[in-house]
Amino acid sequence: MGYFDGKKGLILGVANDRSIAWAVAREIMQQGGVCGFSHLPDKPEDEKRKNRRRVSQCTDQFPDHVRFLEPLDVGKDADIAAIMDKAAAEFGQIDFLLHSIAFASLDDLRRDTIETSREGFKMAMEISAYSLVAVANAARKILRPGASVLTMTYFGGEKCVPGYNVMGICKAALEAAMRYLAYDLGPQGVRVNALSAGPLKTLAGSAAGVGEMQDLYEQIAPLGRNVTHEEVGRTGAWLLSSFSDGITAEVVHVDGGYNAMGSPGRMLDRFKAAP
Ligand code: NAP
Repeated sequence: MGYFDGKKGLILGVANDRSIAWAVAREIMQQGGVCGFSHLPDKPEDEKRKNRRRVSQCTDQFPDHVRFLEPLDVGKDADIAAIMDKAAAEFGQIDFLLHSIAFASLDDLRRDTIETSREGFKMAMEISAYSLVAVANAARKILRPGASVLTMTYFGGEKCVPGYNVMGICKAALEAAMRYLAYDLGPQGVRVNALSAGPLKTLAGSAAGVGEMQDLYEQIAPLGRNVTHEEVGRTGAWLLSSFSDGITAEVVHVDGGYNAMGSPGRMLDRFKAAP
């Protein structure tokens, strides 16, 4: 018996077995849930279908819990409509929807925020923030009363985290979108939340400079360590489950308490100890 027995839903944003979406999905499937997954579309000339293969290496491990794996570029309304049609055909209605997607060009991530290009800003916002609105709207008719929608965010959307740059602006927009969507879907009995994860080594995380941030978290966070994929996966699954049924429009931090600090905390001891 698992707490996702009989529950069905969509997981958007697995790239490989280090993806946060995979940590959440694995917990859901281990608890009895059944999932449909997306992968970034492969180019027609890519006969090896590398994007699909990366994700299927994960999903193939859970044949009894994976119902489908479909291409999705959230920059395309037709792709979003197609995956919702697929979910409707396979599941009828769904109990959970995970949006774990972000993208900004490396050029824009690496330059100071003040120099962000117009096109780069538009693309990062479209893929990383607007896509939650588009996906929630397309899913509206198949979200069962009591269903839960979850997106993934980072502290750089609340405070200035140098290096996170344009993505920080996207996460602020994403968190605001989450609250407005929670308002719109509330009457339907659908909840919408965001999980703010501490730095984790993933494909997207490496682009955003996670290594350095992990050193800081170890020294500053009240827990004195970084969080794990498994911890984020468990809280993500909990937010997508009926155990969190009174919570909506919330940003839940899974970061060892880092966001609560108003000073570098124990990291100051290093300076005090210096001769
Ligand atoms: P990840 O494994 O690279 O996942 C990002 C996913 O977004 C990938 O599956 C990627 O697909 C997908 N994606 C990008 N553009 C897309 C598009 N146009 N259409 C559809 N999918 C697209 O990295 P992750 O760290 O797990 O990131 C997941 C979420 O967690 C992101 O929102 C990220 O900002 C957030 N987050 C990460 C951290 C961290 O430290 N890692 C901390 C807090 C929040 P492809 O890889 O196939 O391109």
